[in-house]
Amino acid sequence: MSGSPTTTRDVHRAVVTGGAGFVGSHLCEALLRSGAEVICLDNFLTGSPANVAHLQQDPRFRMIRCDVTDFVHVPGPVDLVLHFASPASPADYLRLPLHTLKVGAIGTWHALGLAKDKGARFVLASTSEVYGDPQVHPQPESYWGHVNPVGPRGVYDEGKRYAEALATAYRGTEDVNTGIVRIFNTFGPRLRADDGRAIPNFIRQALAGEPLTVAGDGMQTRSVCYVDDLVEGVLAMGVTDHPGPLNLGNPEERSVLRIARDVVEATASTSHIVHIERPADDPQVRRPDTTLAQRELGWHARTPWRDGLGHTVQWWRTHVAAAAAPA
Ligand code: NAD
Ligand code: UDP
Repeated sequence: MSGSPTTTRDVHRAVVTGGAGFVGSHLCEALLRSGAEVICLDNFLTGSPANVAHLQQDPRFRMIRCDVTDFVHVPGPVDLVLHFASPASPADYLRLPLHTLKVGAIGTWHALGLAKDKGARFVLASTSEVYGDPQVHPQPESYWGHVNPVGPRGVYDEGKRYAEALATAYRGTEDVNTGIVRIFNTFGPRLRADDGRAIPNFIRQALAGEPLTVAGDGMQTRSVCYVDDLVEGVLAMGVTDHPGPLNLGNPEERSVLRIARDVVEATASTSHIVHIERPADDPQVRRPDTTLAQRELGWHARTPWRDGLGHTVQWWRTHVAAAAAPA
């Protein structure tokens, strides 16, 4: 492997697997803005062509509908592969357990094979879920985690842990320039209305005047990052040779109940809060230690929670709520 962790390179042509998903579509957009050509690979399992429709008129953007668990072919040179294809919402991976394991394993093999073939930098979208229900708080990258492999979330957590091991082995034995980012809960425009994660659920419920469904007593915590901040971190990782893993997230921690109350306030909703059963193995706390990302990438999350929430609600009102309203 040549270069140091701080090496930076120009990205002329990038592949984003899962590029029609929530995070992937923002990555495609940011890469185009930076001047790169972008090839988006997606099978629309949990993403949608609508997420990248506004990019289609740009001649530097190409959408290839394909399943990365099948053979992946991309013509021409590639400098960077961002591997983001995978169900990510618990609701999605609980209904798609086998596909989640398959894309974490076989999809990652293929994406790494593509990077090897092209001599490209490879960045794996891993997750805070590799820490499971953590016994160390906040979570540094050196923590090995507390995951139940046979619990319902095991398909996602173990799929990502396998993908991390695979990327590391490719770096060690195949000379592929791999990097791993562990992404913490991210939110923003283009989360699906039926995505099932807490923030889109709460916004949809609040705007519809329905009760907000808080799991358990809502005292479990999450640290949520606005998508624009996350995209900056991923792209910063893409131009280094750093192997990671590096945590990317906003270290400000809030209870789920607090998040629900803030959504009610941000939407000026009259909805009240109801408590529903807590899902199995739901992590009690989650907060990234982002010291390494700050030191190695000079990156930290900058968008205040209320600003990010405001942008997301505004987008939802114009794109989701308006589309659902009767004509
Ligand atoms: P998402 O569901 O919106 O996007 C995933 C995309 O991958 C979708 O467009 C889907 O159609 C595509 N996909 C799934 N299987 C595929 C396959 N076999 N072939 C091609 N495309 C496939 O989810 P997201 O929130 O945008 O997450 C993107 C990535 O970031 C995932 O790998 C996820 O694990 C990771 N991540 C996200 C978060 C978060 O908070 N959003 C947190 C941690 C990690
Ligand atoms: N949650 C909730 N109500 C919902 C959806 C989720 O209270 O309608 C809780 C969930 O149990 C968890 C937290 O919100 O404690 C974050 O869940 P999410 O699905 O957003 O992501 P996770 O961090 O579990 O991957």
